[in-house]
Amino acid sequence: MFFCKKQNFFYEFSSRSRDLAHFSRAQAARSLQLRENVRDGLIHALLSAEYSSAASNLMSCLAMQGDDKAMETLLELERNPRPWRKGLYVDPSSYAQIGGWTFDKESQKIQLNFDTCYPMVKGTTSEKSPVRIGRAREDTCPHCGGRMVDMLVLDGRDERLKFLGLDGILTATCCPNCVGFLKGPAFNSFTLDGGVEVFPSEFFDGAEKTDCYVSPEDYKALTENPFVLGEAPVPLFYGAACQDVNTVGGFANWVQDAEYTTCPHCGKPMKYLAQIQWDTVFDCAEGTLYVEFCPDCHIVSMQHQQT
Ligand SMILES: [Zn+2]
Ligand SMILES: [Zn+2]
Repeated sequence: MFFCKKQNFFYEFSSRSRDLAHFSRAQAARSLQLRENVRDGLIHALLSAEYSSAASNLMSCLAMQGDDKAMETLLELERNPRPWRKGLYVDPSSYAQIGGWTFDKESQKIQLNFDTCYPMVKGTTSEKSPVRIGRAREDTCPHCGGRMVDMLVLDGRDERLKFLGLDGILTATCCPNCVGFLKGPAFNSFTLDGGVEVFPSEFFDGAEKTDCYVSPEDYKALTENPFVLGEAPVPLFYGAACQDVNTVGGFANWVQDAEYTTCPHCGKPMKYLAQIQWDTVFDCAEGTLYVEFCPDCHIVSMQHQQT
């Protein structure tokens, strides 16, 4: 079981080990024991691993387990790299990100995900919702001339969103036409009263201008979509397991590798906030928009991934 491919194992493992709330106390104790046994087995296998591929899979699993001892082990391997490290692209602290956490140079654990997940569900366009996807704006994109969009507008004062610790409004603004072609994520700063300042951006290929491929019909579909915040939370990995749901909090369904953006202001990793599947709001669109933010600096990042 230690060498299984990550996705399926993760979902089963996480639902078993993280969601203890509905268990009886005896079941919870047994589950904790199981979780620690699995962890110790993973650590033992990892510390005796010879090959990079095995170490990579084992670190991914240990990241999902994610308790203090799991962190100690990854920290130790980061400080004292084993021979297999040469065969991997990134350090153990990056593997930890798969489990929604990492650690810094001072060995402090940093949580990258929220422990609650809400779905966006179809309501009516006029229905009140503390979260909106795709709100029209008047300003235009400096690259393509198309209109910018508030891709996510979220009011953290709603009872359901208290877990975000945001005492006001977060707005994530970008150009839907260009966000997938930027060098790195799109950034903006926000104020809790709804203000936004979009940061300058560059294309990955150094070009300055591009055509706008978002038609007026697409723009209308995007800004008049029916999504509203669901009434009740869903399991943490609800959004990680499907490719067609928009979610706030929990875990993302990363198309490529998990990618937590570094805050351009304070240099700390940002927290994962939400994912928007383009094809739920746009005909023929592909890929996912991942929204992250830095709670300290009130900066949002948006990045696009697709297969
Ligand atoms: Zn644009
Ligand atoms: Zn910051």
